Amino acid sequence: MNSYLKAMGITEWVRRDVISHSEQIIEKIEEKQEIIRVKPEMSEMKNIKENQPITTQPMPEIAEIDSSREKFILSLDWNNLEQRIKSCTDCPLHQERANTVFGIGSKQAKWLILGEAPGQEEDKQGEPFVGRAGQLLNSMLFAVGLQRSDIFIANTVKCRPPNNRDPHPTEILSCAPFLSRQIELLKPRLILILGRVAVRRLLQKEDALGKLRGKIHEYQNIPVVITYHPAYLLRSPSEKAKAWEDLQFALSVASPI
Ligand code: URA
Repeated sequence: MNSYLKAMGITEWVRRDVISHSEQIIEKIEEKQEIIRVKPEMSEMKNIKENQPITTQPMPEIAEIDSSREKFILSLDWNNLEQRIKSCTDCPLHQERANTVFGIGSKQAKWLILGEAPGQEEDKQGEPFVGRAGQLLNSMLFAVGLQRSDIFIANTVKCRPPNNRDPHPTEILSCAPFLSRQIELLKPRLILILGRVAVRRLLQKEDALGKLRGKIHEYQNIPVVITYHPAYLLRSPSEKAKAWEDLQFALSVASPI
């Protein structure tokens, strides 16, 4: 850890009692990368409330899934899966998207990092986590010696919900076979979930994130670690230290490189 900070020229430590050591590290890195000189356009950010249980619309019954569509998607290889997602018109989200957001990174990656859904910037660029939340994610990865290309990053939903609203349960369900197939093809050693939408999809858990973090969960025999969504951390910087702990915990469960 120290060598990374040194390599980045971070030598000066300013002690502040109100924030934790790990939070200082992340903030230093962000300063160094000049990532957050420009204040966030908060209107562009999702207002994620990680510590509240989900009480909105219930998930549709599993019987509502079209099984032949699902079977077909679960038979696709990486390229055909990407093409199928690109041309998907199976739910209303396709109507307003600029781009689908398939996911990015190494297809040999040992970690899958799973977010919620593309935001404005991701929709524009067709790549997950390239907006401000993504910059924070990059900083955290960088702080532990990782780059985006070392892992695979994807979202639960592949198209942007208008006005950054939460994806609807039917939209999440429509995208579910795409995510299932990505996980089958990737065979990650660990899934790091960012935020409650992905928790709900993959683990069918509705608890507040604070109750779920710090434990090893499981999805089809793959260990799953849960942490806060970076968009939430941007709004609640005092929680960054917990996300840092979660990242360390994930590293102790399975090495990504
Ligand atoms: N939030 C997400 O969950 N995913 C992204 O790709 C960007 C922001």
